[in-house]
Amino acid sequence: MQGFPYDDLHELPEEQRRSFEFLSAIFRSQEEIWNDPYRGLSFNPFDVDAVASFQRESLINNTTIASQLSASSFNLGVLRRALPTLVNELQAKGLEPELDTSTLVEYVRENLVEVVSSILEPSESDLGEMAERFGTQPSILSIIGDALLQPPLMQLASVTERGYLDSWRETACPVCGHDPIVAIKTESEVWRFKCSYCRAEYRTDIFKCPNCGETGHDHKEFLILGDSQEYEIASCSQCGRYYKIINKAKQKKALPEGLEDLNTYFLDYVAQERGLRRLDADGPDES
Ligand SMILES: [Zn+2]
Ligand SMILES: [Zn+2]
Repeated sequence: MQGFPYDDLHELPEEQRRSFEFLSAIFRSQEEIWNDPYRGLSFNPFDVDAVASFQRESLINNTTIASQLSASSFNLGVLRRALPTLVNELQAKGLEPELDTSTLVEYVRENLVEVVSSILEPSESDLGEMAERFGTQPSILSIIGDALLQPPLMQLASVTERGYLDSWRETACPVCGHDPIVAIKTESEVWRFKCSYCRAEYRTDIFKCPNCGETGHDHKEFLILGDSQEYEIASCSQCGRYYKIINKAKQKKALPEGLEDLNTYFLDYVAQERGLRRLDADGPDES
């Protein structure tokens, strides 16, 4: 279980292969949004002042950039145009067997403002209620909403400043609010979480458990793995959560951008065999 175990999709275990196929389908169907000059946003993401204002607000109020956005921050016309391709691609991978593709597209198209708002301010009840109305699962709506908002949020992440990303003190991503699972370690021994969703790289406090906040040395464990010791599993014995570290300085071949989590699934096996839970797993910890 060491090193990078495959170059070929067929060698991926079933669950990872399915995730990989889903991700590829999403990437393909986001092209329409990437082709938009503002990447699906209703304002110019290259406007330095606008981005600076988001960053300032974020640090002052400890709030993510996504939570400062609303449905009107997006070009809903562009998102609507991308919808049929996206849903078609995902349906081809078996996303929602209960509904036909055109019905699902129509539902989301008509309720796009609600879907977008529920992604920006995640609250299970909104999505649950909406999904029930549509006759589908909340998870289906989140997959579609997440896929539509990924290019604009990746765009915003790419224009945020290093100083901002290093000033953030929370575990969740400062740009999109997703919990991290992968951290990148570079030669300078600085570690940064790398958001699997918007790809922001932001400060990790290595002296503190990112889940429970435990700071005692006795509770931190680092398990080093890989042919050139390029991978680590960082865990906390207090809460049992772990995240994965990729040591770029020791890596022979860089993992594909945005697929770092999926490409290190073997670390999840090792960690979960030890009874650890992913840092980004939902639900409360057992005490
Ligand atoms: Zn993010
Ligand atoms: Zn902990």
